[in-house]
Amino acid sequence: MKEKLCHSVLLDEEKCKGCTHCIRRCPTEAIRVKGGKARIDEERCIDCGECIRTCPNHAKYAQSDPLEAIGHYRYSIALPAPAFYAQFSTGFTLGKLLYGLLELGFSDVYEVARGAEILAEEIKKILRSGHLPPPLISSACPAVVRLAEEKFPSLTGNLLPLDSPLGVAARIARSRALEKGFSPEEIGVFFITPCPAKVTEIRQSVGDLERIDGAISMAKIYPLIINMTEKLQDISGIQRASWKGIGWARSGGEQESLDEGEYVAVDGIHDVMSVFEKIEMGELNNLVYCEAQACVGGCIGGVLAVQNPFLAKVNVNRLIRKYSVFQAIEEKEWDKLARQDAFRRKKPFIARDILKLDQDYKRALEKYQIIEKILDRLPGLDCGACGSPTCRSLAEDVVREKAQEIDCPFLLREKMLELSREIFDLANKIPQTMKNDERGKKTIEGS
Ligand code: SF4
Ligand code: SF4
Repeated sequence: MKEKLCHSVLLDEEKCKGCTHCIRRCPTEAIRVKGGKARIDEERCIDCGECIRTCPNHAKYAQSDPLEAIGHYRYSIALPAPAFYAQFSTGFTLGKLLYGLLELGFSDVYEVARGAEILAEEIKKILRSGHLPPPLISSACPAVVRLAEEKFPSLTGNLLPLDSPLGVAARIARSRALEKGFSPEEIGVFFITPCPAKVTEIRQSVGDLERIDGAISMAKIYPLIINMTEKLQDISGIQRASWKGIGWARSGGEQESLDEGEYVAVDGIHDVMSVFEKIEMGELNNLVYCEAQACVGGCIGGVLAVQNPFLAKVNVNRLIRKYSVFQAIEEKEWDKLARQDAFRRKKPFIARDILKLDQDYKRALEKYQIIEKILDRLPGLDCGACGSPTCRSLAEDVVREKAQEIDCPFLLREKMLELSREIFDLANKIPQTMKNDERGKKTIEGS
């Protein structure tokens, strides 16, 4: 069965000027400009948000749920991302921020940072077991997971086969609510998100009562918390996360919480692709772990965050120093997590390979050869003027019957010159019937 696609990165056609800025930054070549407007190919888009950052006309945007959505549930739980804390400067303790979320109407809160540090302990066990091919690639960032599935299908076997910190936190929070006596339908779990990739991940799991019911952007929550600064109280008892989980807000935090052997922490989707290419070529087998995040700086660089990522990093580092004591996970807590099946990844990784030209190998090879021939005719400038990001992608679009060679303005110009030369030659051709005879007289057939 074909997976239902839904995306949170969308286009406002009114604002799009067809400038083609976005097409060159898209890591999966999912955007084309046709008829003066950008179009996103749903099959290829991984909701990384790169085009939102790039568009000078703010024509791309990310959709998330309104805060009012929590009203549909009797018991609503907020799951703040570690990056949420990083939006606030000195004076905002975690206790105050969690209190602020309760004041906004949530019945309970559970920190994704706590989910991250619990998960880190489980990852360590996997790394020590040595059962999986090195390097193991973190599956915490959904845009990175989808990048691997779409563009690096051979690496899906390297992806960490566990749920993300968000998934772990959601399961724990939901089971706590069930223990309080609420029915599954009464419980609404909401992530406070820094990025559209998480919104998409959540929307694709809608209807699954184990999972998450909505994602509210940090940009919506931030001003509401700021407006109640005076009211915020530093409540105790609900805040449990420490440096280990808080650090996951920025690149490098995950590896710090693991501290097992050699690893690489890479951030920014284009650098992630360069590292993935090296893993594919077997050049990084010395590494045990690859932490990879689509946004520059990690989750603090998400397009739904409000704080400058460099300042957000200062905030993270301050919180790491402040919450320096990790509350160890007790034996009975582990037992409970095992009963809740807290680490199980519900959705398997699917190697899709969007670049495949045809299911049939022979046909794919033929198409590949046609692409090479078309490429020989194209100028190789990768200018994007045709509406496709590169000459190769235009050639592929032609083979996929989604474009024509003359969409390339250089090729079009050449064809027009050729045509005008032919017209000129034709115009200079005098019909036999009108040719001059040797004496200079015009001859007309029959006379
Ligand atoms: S960057 Fe893309 S979405 Fe934005 S105006 Fe240009 S073509 Fe349209
Ligand atoms: S969200 Fe990312 S993958 Fe999707 S169209 Fe924009 S840049 Fe491309």
